[in-house]
Amino acid sequence: MVSKRLMDVPESGTVAIANIVSQLKHEGIEIISFSMGEPDFDTPDNIKEACVRSLNKGFTHYTPSTGIPELRKAIAERASNDNKIKCTAKNVLVTPTKQALFMIALAYLDPGDEVILPDPAWVSYEAVIRLAGAKPVYVTTKFEDNFKVNADMMASVVTERTKMLILNSPSNPTGSVLPRDTLKGIADLCIDKKIRVLSDEIYEHIIYEGEHVSIASFDNMFDRTLTISGLSKTYAMTGWRLGWLIAPEKDISAVNKLQTHSITCVTSFTQPAAVEALKGTQEPRKRMVEEFKKRRNLAFDLINEIDGVECNRPEGAFYLFPRYSHKISSEDLAMYMMKEAHVAITPGRSFGPAGENHFRLSYATSEKNIIDGIASMKRAFSKL
Ligand code: PMP
Ligand code: GLU
Repeated sequence: MVSKRLMDVPESGTVAIANIVSQLKHEGIEIISFSMGEPDFDTPDNIKEACVRSLNKGFTHYTPSTGIPELRKAIAERASNDNKIKCTAKNVLVTPTKQALFMIALAYLDPGDEVILPDPAWVSYEAVIRLAGAKPVYVTTKFEDNFKVNADMMASVVTERTKMLILNSPSNPTGSVLPRDTLKGIADLCIDKKIRVLSDEIYEHIIYEGEHVSIASFDNMFDRTLTISGLSKTYAMTGWRLGWLIAPEKDISAVNKLQTHSITCVTSFTQPAAVEALKGTQEPRKRMVEEFKKRRNLAFDLINEIDGVECNRPEGAFYLFPRYSHKISSEDLAMYMMKEAHVAITPGRSFGPAGENHFRLSYATSEKNIIDGIASMKRAFSKL
């Protein structure tokens, strides 16, 4: 028997669909995949070369559990300069972004605590909240508002048990970006009600309109914010498993305790490569974002041409989150599209109750796949 806490948690909806796609591909069935949220580009050469250099130099042993000093410094410099978060290397823990989330939940949540998060939101937030025995409290966002949360919505569900609030801008799965004044309102609420913020900024550089604002940059917010981000999306490095937590020193120590009892440290020879990613040329990253913007426009236009399907124009990340009017659940729709259209999408319901009657389409794939895959979906929708 698995533990009661695991029983409460479904498998990751995003990873489950991606696993089905891999299995079908293995069996020789061609599927156009709009499922996994990962760039289809190769990791830039300068980063790969830095990794090979560190391997060749024999940099293959444990590192300090918090990460190598050069990398912690490079992350802190990036956060201070780009994100205006006043921090130093001591405020950085190098860890995969998903691991950071997991450790934060274990480090800060007790049974009975409540955590406010937007609905829809990325699949793993609810899972880690439940694993820690705490309670997810969803704030329902609206298609008409481009799925944006605001301070009033959050304030309406605050109770004396509210411990933490989760933000993810740009958002997975909706692609919406929270404006500065909305974030300022949420910051004021958190200061007033003494709530901690977990700000997941993994898509911070994949932004087409508006600006990325880190909530930890507002006055009096650093002390109550845990900011997580990483290299996966920005530099097409999903398989490298490298990210970070930026937080006050006492929180870095607390979460590092969990790191020392779990992964010990991030893979050694990837860390000098991460320094190169942050400090070397940023041209490949910029080209990738320009390409994503073209694909966003293309996918957005094509999806909105399907009868009974409508979609907002996302300002960031690489997902569309369209709504459909057909009478089929989002899980059945994903299975139907896999069989009928040979296209993989992620059911909207995986991202929370408000995701029902939506699906997530990751457009981090070629223009040809976008054109062919959406045409195939259009034919399949017309048969429903
Ligand atoms: N946060 C969000 C919003 C994500 O979409 C993902 C998926 N990559 C992660 C965190 C986890 O990132 P990583 O795979 O780099 O751990
Ligand atoms: N974050 C990506 C996604 O949403 C990768 C899978 C996962 O970690 O959930 O598709």
